Amino acid sequence: MAERKEKTFKFVVVGGGIAGVTCVEQLSSNFPSTDVALITAGRHIKAVTNYKQVSKTLEEFDVLERPSSVLEEKFPNLTVIHSAVKSLHTESHSVETADGRVFGYEKLCICSGARPKLLTQDNPYVLGIRDTDSAQEFQKRLSKAKRIVVVGNGGIALELVYEVEGCEVIWVVKDKAIGNTFFDAGAAQFLIPSLGADKLEVSAPCRRTRYTTEEPASGGAQTFTADATPRGQSSGTVGPGSALGPDWHQGIVLHGAEQVSRCVSVEYQCEVKQIFTSEDQTLKPESVGSWPVYIQLTNDKTLGCDFVVSATGVVPNTEPFLHGNSFALVGDGGLQVDDHMRTSEPDVYAAGDVCTACWEHSPLWQQMRLWTQARQMGWYAGRCIAADVLSEPVDLDFCFELFSHITKFFNYKVVLLGKFNAQGLGSDHELLVRCTKGQEYIKVVLSRGRMVGAVLIGETNLEETFENLILNQMDLTPYGEELLNPNIDIEDYFD
Ligand code: FAD
Repeated sequence: MAERKEKTFKFVVVGGGIAGVTCVEQLSSNFPSTDVALITAGRHIKAVTNYKQVSKTLEEFDVLERPSSVLEEKFPNLTVIHSAVKSLHTESHSVETADGRVFGYEKLCICSGARPKLLTQDNPYVLGIRDTDSAQEFQKRLSKAKRIVVVGNGGIALELVYEVEGCEVIWVVKDKAIGNTFFDAGAAQFLIPSLGADKLEVSAPCRRTRYTTEEPASGGAQTFTADATPRGQSSGTVGPGSALGPDWHQGIVLHGAEQVSRCVSVEYQCEVKQIFTSEDQTLKPESVGSWPVYIQLTNDKTLGCDFVVSATGVVPNTEPFLHGNSFALVGDGGLQVDDHMRTSEPDVYAAGDVCTACWEHSPLWQQMRLWTQARQMGWYAGRCIAADVLSEPVDLDFCFELFSHITKFFNYKVVLLGKFNAQGLGSDHELLVRCTKGQEYIKVVLSRGRMVGAVLIGETNLEETFENLILNQMDLTPYGEELLNPNIDIEDYFD
């Protein structure tokens, strides 16, 4: 393999997503006279723009899909190679691409991301949503659909069920409440009415991470009816609204084949038992009607639909790198990385969705496969690689001290801080909640009198104050429930 090397680069980064691009930017600018290569399977690269540090740990930015030439123009020492890595040979420090070329590296950073964990492979009626292509395929199929089933309870499912109109959506969640990845049952209760409410006006605009391939288009009017309660109960309203959607489908119209407005129903606490097509007629109860595909749930219901969206999490893209090497993998399928983003193979680092952070985490941080963390890890991996080459020490970045995430669900601004769902705290915590229907939901997680997490839904303006209270671990016992007293200006109080 060594003799086939077309060229050896000092640094090779694999993956043109946020993690890879951020890492490559860091390395190319730190070492302007050193050869850097970005090898990516995709046609475009993802660029972080309009980056803004909102507070100590909260950050916002836009994500743009761009031609790779933009990067090469910015960094003359950078070469972008558009081909998928087919294999990695850690011994000879080389990678082979799908088009048969071999490139050597001194330091390699794997940022190949993750792909949707599909309910079944190779079933044309089961779609996953990952990138622009799959989002467009989804849009195309949706335009002809009368009913779809969405399986999963994470961010993608939450966004989908809220945005799709003109098509009945049956939402299958394995938990007792919607949005379990991000919320507790209380927050879910707060959000549920949004699925059935008129969106007469757009709430105050919220800046947050935004993903776009071009200038975001503002959405048109939206009409919907909804039934977000368990099957059997229903409510219905019609009204115009905004299509200020989640970032990844901004500008994409998510409309089904029907003229009806939005219509969502939820099947709680069940999973998929099997999926079969109209050819397997024996499996289909008479009453289900005639559909291209059927989905049987663990609650023994069989539902017919046009297609199924599998939004049940992701699997790290590690396969091409594993053969012949001995990477340590974690239970979630990620490449294990230490506090310097090093994998278990020498001179191979990893960042973003493909890796699993295996250092001893701060008690207030957890890994979640999100854009912000992909950027932070890519940036930090670049720093660590540089420090390694220059034999300089590097401390774990401050961004890994406190988990923080700004997003938007059901048109509400959502801020998550620290152990926002009391993750890993067992019974050693108490919750304070303040909720004003249709306006705000605030939950504070306290452990031994100290704030360790918070969920802020709506325009609460509390994120910075709470971030400080979490970071400084002040004893809040004397304040008790006053902490969330709406008549006290808490921002002033702790200033
Ligand atoms: P990716 O962005 O997946 O990039 C991986 C790159 O590696 C790609 O360029 C790919 O072409 C390349 N690649 C893969 N295999 C190879 C190979 N063998 N050889 C060469 N190149 C390869 N996060 C949020 O924070 N907020 C959101 O609102 C949000 N919404 C989301 C909506 C959807 C539909 C999805 C799917 C995810 C969403 N996420 C969101 C998660 C977020 O997109 C990811 O956490 C983030 O993009 C991970 O970045 P990455 O650079 O690690 O991987």
